[in-house]
Amino acid sequence: MLKGLEKLSVSQKFVVLALAAEKILKDQPVVFYYFGPRSLKKRAADLEGEKIASVIDELRNLEEETCLLDDSSPLFRRSYLRSQIKSLWAFLRYSGLKLTGETLTSAVNEVIGVSVVKPYDLNEAKNKLRKLLSGIGYSSYEQFKKERAKGSGVVKDSEIRKDIKLLKDCCENDIVPNILFGDRLVKKLRSSKVDISKPKKGYPSCYYIYRGHGLADMRLSGQHRYDKISVVQSLMHELYPGHHFFYLYRELLFEMGFLGEEATIDLLYSAETPLNEGIAEAAYAYLESLDAELLKYIKVAMFREQFCKKVLYNVWYRMYVDGDFDRANGCDYLMSEGFIENEKIKGLMEMIDNWRVYYPAYTIGREIVSNYLDDTGKKGLYHLYLPKPLSILAEKNNERRGYEEKSCASILCSDRLVE
Ligand SMILES: [Zn+2]
Repeated sequence: MLKGLEKLSVSQKFVVLALAAEKILKDQPVVFYYFGPRSLKKRAADLEGEKIASVIDELRNLEEETCLLDDSSPLFRRSYLRSQIKSLWAFLRYSGLKLTGETLTSAVNEVIGVSVVKPYDLNEAKNKLRKLLSGIGYSSYEQFKKERAKGSGVVKDSEIRKDIKLLKDCCENDIVPNILFGDRLVKKLRSSKVDISKPKKGYPSCYYIYRGHGLADMRLSGQHRYDKISVVQSLMHELYPGHHFFYLYRELLFEMGFLGEEATIDLLYSAETPLNEGIAEAAYAYLESLDAELLKYIKVAMFREQFCKKVLYNVWYRMYVDGDFDRANGCDYLMSEGFIENEKIKGLMEMIDNWRVYYPAYTIGREIVSNYLDDTGKKGLYHLYLPKPLSILAEKNNERRGYEEKSCASILCSDRLVE
C-alpha cells in the first residue's frame, strides 16, 4: 500500500489517490475542484513522487475494499463509490491516448459508465422540433430565435440575479418536496450563493464550479445572455434544477453521513457525469411553478439544444468510432444536418476531439434520464438525485418499477430513522 493511506477510509483513500494523480500527471488535469478536508490534500502531496502506475494499482485494490460498504437502497453507497473508483482507474489508464474505434467505445464504457449507441435518427428529432415550434406559432428555429431577441438587448446582471431567485424558488416548491431529506435541503438551498460573471479569456463560454459550503461560480458569456430564454435555459442547466442543486444535495448527504469525502471532489471525468448532465437537461420539466408560457419557450430551446448535441454526437461517432468521416465531412454534416452556424463549428469540433471520452455523456445521459422520468413521472425524482451509477436508471421497465416501489418504502423508512 502507498504510504500514508493505511488508516484512511475507502472514501478518503479515493480522494487522496485522485488528488495525487492530479499532482503526478502534470499535463493531464484530473480534478475539476476539491473542497474537502485539507489533511487529505496534504497526504496527496506526499505521494507526488510516486509513479502513476502505483496509483492505478492502488485504485484496483480499493475497488475490492468497497465490499465492506453498505449497498442497500435507496443510497446504494457501495455501487456508487465503486463506480467512481472504477471510472478513475480507467481514466488514468487511458490518459494521454487519442482513442478511436473499439478502444474508444470501451473507454467510454469504463470511464463514464455508459454504452455507446449508434448515430441518432435525426428525422424524428427534426419533426418533433417542427411540431414544438408550430405549437408556439413559428415556422423555423431561426425565426423563433430572431423574434425572441427583438428589442431585449443583452440581459443585465441584475436581471440574471432575479431569474436565479425565480428558479431557486421553483426548485424549492416543485423539486425539494419530491426528494429524500428535501426538508433538510431547504436551509442549504436558501443560504447558497452563486457568483455570476463573464468567462475568463480562453475559457468556455458558459461553465460552473461548485466551491463547497453552498458557494458556486458561474461564468456566462454574451452569447448566453442575448435574451431571457437563453439566460433561463443556461441557469436551469448550470444551477436549478441542474448542477448547483445536484451538488448542494450531494454535500447535504455528506454532511448527514450518507456519503463520504467522495462528495467533496469533482473529477473532470467520472461515472457520475452522465447522470449529472442528464438531470441538468431534463429535470426542468418538473418546475411546475414556473410561468407556463415561459416554460413552453424553454422547452423548444432545450429541445433544439438536444438536437444539436445529437448532430454533434453523430459526427463524434462517425469520426472516431466508425472512422468514415474526416474533419471536412464532420464540418459539412454540422452545417447541412444541424443548421449550425459557421462560426460555432471550429469550437464544436475541438470540443469533441479534446473531450472525446466525455462527449457521449451529454446525449446518452439525457436519453436515459428522460426515458426514466417518462416512465416514473415526478416520483422518479427521489432516485434521480441520489448518487448512483447510471446503469441503475437504465434497467428494464418492469425491473425499474419494482425497484421504484421498493425504494419508496425504504425512503420512508430512512426518513423515519433520522427524525
Ligand atoms: Zn453540464
